[in-house]
Amino acid sequence: MQYKKFQRKKFCRFCADKNLFIDYKDIKTLRNYLTERGKMVAGRMTGNCAKHQRELTTAIKRARSIALLSFVER
Ligand SMILES: [Zn+2]
Repeated sequence: MQYKKFQRKKFCRFCADKNLFIDYKDIKTLRNYLTERGKMVAGRMTGNCAKHQRELTTAIKRARSIALLSFVER
């Protein structure tokens, strides 16, 4: 099966860039890890390590709960 140009690099951008950190208010970053339908992108697709993937999940849940990401639930 062929996926459309999905990045398959195996590295965690949060580990790679120490200036980058997961902030639930940082919608632009969080959106990179959501599909068009607002679902979480699985860690194995993003290349994130388990630790940061879990932090992302937490951040997204938090952002959703304060409705910052509510638009993705159309
Ligand atoms: Zn990481």
